[in-house]
Amino acid sequence: MDNPASNDVRTTPSDRADGRAILDDGETRPAAPACPAGLIGGAAYAGASGPPLMIIEGLKRIFRPGERPAVNGVTIDVYEGELLALLGPSGCGKTTTLRMIGGFEQPDAGRILMRGTDITHLPPEKRGIGFVFQDYALFPHLDVFENIRFGLHNLPRKQAEARVREMLELVGLSDLSRRKPHELSGGQQQRVALARTLALAPPLVLLDEPFSNLDAAMRVETRQEVRALLKEAGSAGILVTHDQEEALALADRIVVMEAGKVCQVGTPDEIYRNPVSSFVASFIGRSNIITGKAQGLGAETPFGRVELSKAVNGTVDLAVRPEQILLEPHAEGEAEVIGREYRGHDQLYWVKKGERRLLVISGPAEQIEIGARVNLRVCDCVVPINQDIQALIAE
Ligand code: ADP
Ligand code: MG
Repeated sequence: MDNPASNDVRTTPSDRADGRAILDDGETRPAAPACPAGLIGGAAYAGASGPPLMIIEGLKRIFRPGERPAVNGVTIDVYEGELLALLGPSGCGKTTTLRMIGGFEQPDAGRILMRGTDITHLPPEKRGIGFVFQDYALFPHLDVFENIRFGLHNLPRKQAEARVREMLELVGLSDLSRRKPHELSGGQQQRVALARTLALAPPLVLLDEPFSNLDAAMRVETRQEVRALLKEAGSAGILVTHDQEEALALADRIVVMEAGKVCQVGTPDEIYRNPVSSFVASFIGRSNIITGKAQGLGAETPFGRVELSKAVNGTVDLAVRPEQILLEPHAEGEAEVIGREYRGHDQLYWVKKGERRLLVISGPAEQIEIGARVNLRVCDCVVPINQDIQALIAE
């Protein structure tokens, strides 16, 4: 089909290898720095019932002198019982951050406090933190029961076995306790790995891309299970993922990372509705980046007047979500439909107005043919995302 998505990079400016944002007018300009000052957000966890479980301050890791740090001043608070997702593209430093938290990697700067105690230089086994490895790291020659019991060697035998049974029940594998790992599905192996970690009742569990070995359907099912299990066990979790959908679906709060830095912290809703940069706007969901002249809570754009989420004055870059644009078929419409993708629950359209292209998502009901003329209407508040947005805030 005629699907111009592959060359319509405006909706994903972060895809460009040179890091330049591509704007609606086809021009490029340097992308905003990964971490515009003062824009990080950093909303505390609304479910917090006390001080943070863990305070991570200015964590830094440089693998090769002279090169850009893999992790460059990461600061995060993690609250008791909270599920936090570290989200960002491949290579942005998520795993390195997680490994430093777990004690498998030493930071070059920064510190980690757990319930007020500095654990920065403690070995992993002294931190009381659970770790679920990407490949689950189950012992192939031990059955499910023995795999879970493995970490409990400090407990008297009876007590350890009772704890294993409790964990088997928690993860719903009591009937499979004598199976070996290779006799289990990927999702079941995942649950064994989690049960083994949770058996030690760690206040915090680290999970690195825990669903990457599962097929798509299994992933969706398993991620809600994992969330429920962590919540039931009362353990906080830090989960690394490059999959924005996973982070949105699973996390209490999301930490968005780019190039070793944190660019935004917030609830899934905050991050989606109020991205602080074109990078966040395009990495989490998709966005059309358009330019407008703002005055207060409104802006004039090539697509008509739009309402803004905050009052600003001056030339602004705006992140318009594809679902915020309505297509109105009209014989003399301002734009032309140049591509369409039917997805069952909705449809993607690519429309062209002059030299500008936009991505639009609309419901499945009305189908507009390729080549049809349409008018465009932005039907919701849009978010200004200039890197110097503070300077433009209206009084
Ligand atoms: P992510 O998990 O976000 O994909 P990583 O934390 O694995 O990213 O890697 C961040 C950067 O650090 C990458 O550029 C990667 O190549 C580099 N890196 C990671 N581990 C090492 C290592 N042990 N030695 C050298 N470079 C590394
Ligand atoms: Mg990784």
